[in-house]
Amino acid sequence: MFGSNLQLKINFRIKFIVFFAGFFIPFILNAQPREVVAKKGEGVYRLLTRNGLSASEYMDAFIELNKGRLGEDNMLFAGAKYILPDTEIDPAAAAETTTSPVKTARFDIFGEDYAEVEILDDKLDGAIYYLVAGHGGPDPGAVGYYNNRMLCEDEYAYDVTLRLARELIEYGATVYMITRDQNDGIRDESYLKPDKDERCYPNQVIPINQLRRLRQRTDAVNNLYRKNRGAFQRMIAIHVDARSHGENIDVFFYHDRRSTNGEKASRTLQNKFQEKYDTHQPGRGYHGTVSPRALYVVRNTYPVAVYIELGNINHFRDQQRFILPNNRQALANWLTEGLLDDFDNNK
Ligand SMILES: [Zn+2]
Repeated sequence: MFGSNLQLKINFRIKFIVFFAGFFIPFILNAQPREVVAKKGEGVYRLLTRNGLSASEYMDAFIELNKGRLGEDNMLFAGAKYILPDTEIDPAAAAETTTSPVKTARFDIFGEDYAEVEILDDKLDGAIYYLVAGHGGPDPGAVGYYNNRMLCEDEYAYDVTLRLARELIEYGATVYMITRDQNDGIRDESYLKPDKDERCYPNQVIPINQLRRLRQRTDAVNNLYRKNRGAFQRMIAIHVDARSHGENIDVFFYHDRRSTNGEKASRTLQNKFQEKYDTHQPGRGYHGTVSPRALYVVRNTYPVAVYIELGNINHFRDQQRFILPNNRQALANWLTEGLLDDFDNNK
């Protein structure tokens, strides 16, 4: 997980959570609602799965039950209580999970508040992700202004990428953060302070020259790819560029022209976004596309690659959304769900 040379103290602790089948059943019979508290950074999907409920089965019921307690796009508020939908517990199945070990691992790169990660299941066991947050080091990427504050693409792309990394690890994936910042963990602030100390995996200073910068991250990915040959591997590049895409914060997916698998993976992600927007914001319309594009990192890295443009850092409406940490988390959650589908379909 992350590789030992990442200075990430991996500290597996086994805790035991005991589910007493006999404890839950009276709750169900008495139709007592089960209340749970949302954790920091958690979405509906995660909250349901953490509580042993299938998200696809119970998502709608959950949203219905908790109307009025949810934020925009059905965001959860950390620390708030939510009601879980009634479930039919099969006592035999419950008995089998009487003692379920919860593994936690520590990754300092996520910052103090998020360093401790619970490994919730092994759905992505065997999958390896190289996550490349766009730009970094001396290159801030696209720059926008909002309320007289400077918004730098590299910081916002990095925050979403870190959140994505953490989600993937929760599902048992192996994740390499290719762009890395030793002191910016996941940040729950609106304005992410720009800095220039990002490094390239494992700990290389990022050069100013664009071609050298892109070659450096490409080499970092390809060296790891060779070591992991034979495994399911994906390179995911994340940007928040300044190209004009109209009104909405649509998310665009790009792949290498020659890569059928890159196109397939891109479509799987796009479908997930389409589905999410249809469910959570019907009528809003989602116009994100999948297309081939000649991008250095996508062309030259060996793993199946998807390049994602999350929106426009210069566009007011996109800015309003990006500065909300919950929205950055939602993007990471949706990408994770798309990558779960991608792994299921293509492993
Ligand atoms: Zn960019």
